[in-house]
Amino acid sequence: MSFYKKHYDVVIIGAALAGLSAALQLQAKGVKDILILEKNNMPGGVATDFVRNGFEIEASLHEMMSIGPKDNRMVVGEWFDEMGIDIDWLPVPECYRVLLPNEGVNAILHDGFERMARDVDAVVPGTYQKVYDLIMLCDRVTRSMDVISVTPMSKVKMLKDHPDFVKVAGYSASEVIKTFDLPQKAIDMLVPYWIYVGAPMDDLPFTIYAYCMADYFRGSFIPRHRSHEMSMRLQQKVEENGAQIEFRQEVEKIFVKNGKVTGVRTHRGDEIACDYVISGAYPNRVYTSMIEPLSEVPPEAIKFVNGMELGVCPVSVMLILAGTPEENGFVNYNTFSGDTMDTNVIWENGKNLTEPYPFLTTVCLNYAVPDCVPEGYTHVSITNLVPTDPFLDVKEEDYYDLKRRLASEMIEKFIEHNGVDFRDRIAEIEVSTPMTINHYVGAWKGTIYGYRHSMKNHLIGRRTMDANEHYIKGLEFAGAHAVVGDGQAPQVKNGRLAAKAVLNAMAEKEGK
Ligand SMILES: Cc1cc2nc3c(=O)[nH]c(=O)nc-3n(C[C@H](O)[C@H](O)[C@H](O)COP(=O)(O)OP(=O)(O)OC[C@H]3O[C@@H](n4cnc5c(N)ncnc54)[C@H](O)[C@@H]3O)c2cc1C
Repeated sequence: MSFYKKHYDVVIIGAALAGLSAALQLQAKGVKDILILEKNNMPGGVATDFVRNGFEIEASLHEMMSIGPKDNRMVVGEWFDEMGIDIDWLPVPECYRVLLPNEGVNAILHDGFERMARDVDAVVPGTYQKVYDLIMLCDRVTRSMDVISVTPMSKVKMLKDHPDFVKVAGYSASEVIKTFDLPQKAIDMLVPYWIYVGAPMDDLPFTIYAYCMADYFRGSFIPRHRSHEMSMRLQQKVEENGAQIEFRQEVEKIFVKNGKVTGVRTHRGDEIACDYVISGAYPNRVYTSMIEPLSEVPPEAIKFVNGMELGVCPVSVMLILAGTPEENGFVNYNTFSGDTMDTNVIWENGKNLTEPYPFLTTVCLNYAVPDCVPEGYTHVSITNLVPTDPFLDVKEEDYYDLKRRLASEMIEKFIEHNGVDFRDRIAEIEVSTPMTINHYVGAWKGTIYGYRHSMKNHLIGRRTMDANEHYIKGLEFAGAHAVVGDGQAPQVKNGRLAAKAVLNAMAEKEGK
């Protein structure tokens, strides 16, 4: 007996943030006939948690951008509210601590543009105005990007209304920051967010840097009940609205006839007809093995995936420690610590698996969610984000030793930076690598960050090329591999964009 109907308007592959947001956006516009197929036994993809010995451990999220406080929501927070997704958002207490023992820097940068400029000035006196001017430029560029990304406009209007955006659009983050003539120590305090987009500052478009800075320095949030709270609430609402979600159902094939999607086949062998597919699976996998028959894949689609450089993936050590955060040496939520802040050096280091990682992001969840663990315990994750290529050559028999070595080096390095040894208080430990991510969600080569932002592959360029990247009618992509790129809040945007494309195609078909 099949638990499917013979035909659906839309099949969504993957019940993670992007796929569920796409479904909700379609439902908001009246599309009800939706089937979501998820290969795992629960929603969320990497936006999830797991339980070890009674401790509920966050698997991914450090901070959500674009949420905003209840009375002043930003774009993603506003959308969750509008859709009736009731999440208990808790503010992250600060943006980050920069811990650079070699430079004598140990300072916390708080949200609020003036406040963060004062925080930098306290360490590097005389820099307040320049830092403030830089973050205000980031803010103006971000506001322009929000308009330009959804409103087609003439060159004249763009020059007139968005002059700062036009000025910086072709330059890297390093090039623009250099024009502010800041001392290196101040620059080092302002670069850590580069790792969340995974491109060294010399190759990171300033626009992306600006977006991260302006968004995160307005303050970020996390759901009280881990990132899985978002996934569960989205699933609940999407089902309430009438979509069918089936778990443990991997989609193996997408049927295409005469350049147009006609349906899908699951691993179980169910064949389901549909008019549109929104894929959480990477284009690389879809175009090389999922389209049936493969002769329907246009050569341009293969050229496209071959031409895209993959982004980074976290190596993450998740720990529960006996003792309070203070006893374990944790004084704040999010710490970026390093032997260096030279992002070229850090980037090159990430390409090998032999030397310890010199730069780490460490989150102590207790500081945002005090009751995330029983009293007297500490919830910590230590993470680095690296290109995935080196992991592809690791032999199966060497993998577990490698994983243990990386985890132990990362713990040692953080202790070296932070000064408090907690190793004899480890109650639980779990380690994830690009291979874990590949295994769990099927991300192409373990890359959870989609395609890398770079000066050659610029979001602005991709946004304007978007229409040209549609190679098969009725097939859209929603996930970190889509146009907005990586991150949990961006997946809401990617899902909504995919839904919009389907809605446009539906309207075109109906001659509206
Ligand atoms: C350790 C870590 C820390 C992170 N920290 C942050 C952070 O602080 N802030 C932030 O914004 N982002 C963070 N991220 C990144 C963010 O989590 C991801 O970019 C984002 O969640 C990716 O979402 P997605 O929808 O693209 O993909 P996924 O979560 O990978 O979802 C894809 C879904 O599709 C399913 N699927 C795939 N193929 C098939 C198929 N053939 N059939 C059926 N189902 C299929 C998968 O099982 C999965 O559920 C972090 C990630 C990690 C791993």
